[in-house]
Amino acid sequence: MNKNNNDILNVDYIIVGCGLAGIHFCEKLKENNKSFVVFDDKSQTSSLVAGGLYNPVVLKRFTSVWKSTEQIQLALPIYNKIEKECGVILDHKTPVYRRFTSVEEQNNWFVAADKPELSTYLSSEIIKNENPAIEAPFGFGKVLETGRIDTQLLIESYKKSLLSNQQLVEESFNYDSLQISDTLQYKYIRAKHIVFAEGFGIIQNLFFNHLPLKEAKGELLVIHAPDLKIDYVLKSSVFLIPLGKDLYTVGATYNWKDKTNAITQQAREELLNKLKTFLKCDFEVVDQVAGIRPTVSDRRPLVGKHTSHKNMFVLNGLGTRGVMIAPYIAKQLYEFIELSLPLEEEINIERFIKY
Ligand SMILES: Cc1cc2nc3c(=O)[nH]c(=O)nc-3n(C[C@H](O)[C@H](O)[C@H](O)COP(=O)(O)OP(=O)(O)OC[C@H]3O[C@@H](n4cnc5c(N)ncnc54)[C@H](O)[C@@H]3O)c2cc1C
Repeated sequence: MNKNNNDILNVDYIIVGCGLAGIHFCEKLKENNKSFVVFDDKSQTSSLVAGGLYNPVVLKRFTSVWKSTEQIQLALPIYNKIEKECGVILDHKTPVYRRFTSVEEQNNWFVAADKPELSTYLSSEIIKNENPAIEAPFGFGKVLETGRIDTQLLIESYKKSLLSNQQLVEESFNYDSLQISDTLQYKYIRAKHIVFAEGFGIIQNLFFNHLPLKEAKGELLVIHAPDLKIDYVLKSSVFLIPLGKDLYTVGATYNWKDKTNAITQQAREELLNKLKTFLKCDFEVVDQVAGIRPTVSDRRPLVGKHTSHKNMFVLNGLGTRGVMIAPYIAKQLYEFIELSLPLEEEINIERFIKY
């Protein structure tokens, strides 16, 4: 970073948003020795509250997640690098057990496990349930290469590191104050480029709020269940994710109308009702959190350049799988801006301009 005599700070990039999207774009900038400043106002909580799972398989239909192999291969080394830089453990490798509800589901699992694109991820044996705290008469199918990123710790430690390098401004970015010409100027900061990564906060962004982002509010509970004793993620009508110390995340809900980050009694009851269909031990709810997933109707992210302002970009629409997808699209956006490589059509916001 470079402050000149008039107290102007010159940087390569301004980034708005320090969730998963913003953090992974910062990582690309750091890798390439670009200077940057990040704005974050804590108005959105999606990355902070996320279950943090990475899992290459859609567990409802037993199909592959879009580009899952490429995404996981790219993402895990980056999380491991951040772990080393920040001195924390973020990646908790844990298998996912899919609870079967019928013989038909078991058969569908075997068919899926035979497919070349899924055979590395789906174990072909059925695991018998021996845990009295869980009801699972049809057993489980085991998904491999899965785990949980501790996104709360990621964001807290990443922000701390940015703050110590004077790269984080903890305030709302005010879109009206951005002066646009060949360079961009925002208050005392002059930048070559700006990348907006505000999650659902994009609805306030007068440059990109025309994009078709749909909010999908999600809520999670944290329970204390000392008799459960599982070290795998259990997927049934809800996910049960072990956090250690007999704590488990239970989630998540989907609400397409509520645009707030407030927790609700309705979501709590929905999660508890689903949980009690298969969890048979005592437990206590110790926390409840909520956030808004930035989703898109075609289930692909929103990445690209503003139609009129050539130095203004968006990185959004991470949907329900931000942990895996953020590194993948951050890399594409960086290479689009700095190396003039084309963006994949499926993620490029131009797909909405064309039609
Ligand atoms: C309940 C729930 C469970 C989930 N579970 C998983 C999971 O298990 N696995 C998974 O991969 N994904 C999961 N997700 C999805 C994942 O959380 C999202 O895909 C991801 O967090 C989106 O990241 P983001 O950086 O785009 O947005 P956000 O996390 O919303 O980050 C945007 C940031 O921008 C800031 N901001 C916005 N506007 C401004 C402004 N004007 N000025 C300054 N700062 C601003 C916000 O404060 C925020 O910090 C879950 C989401 C929810 C809600």
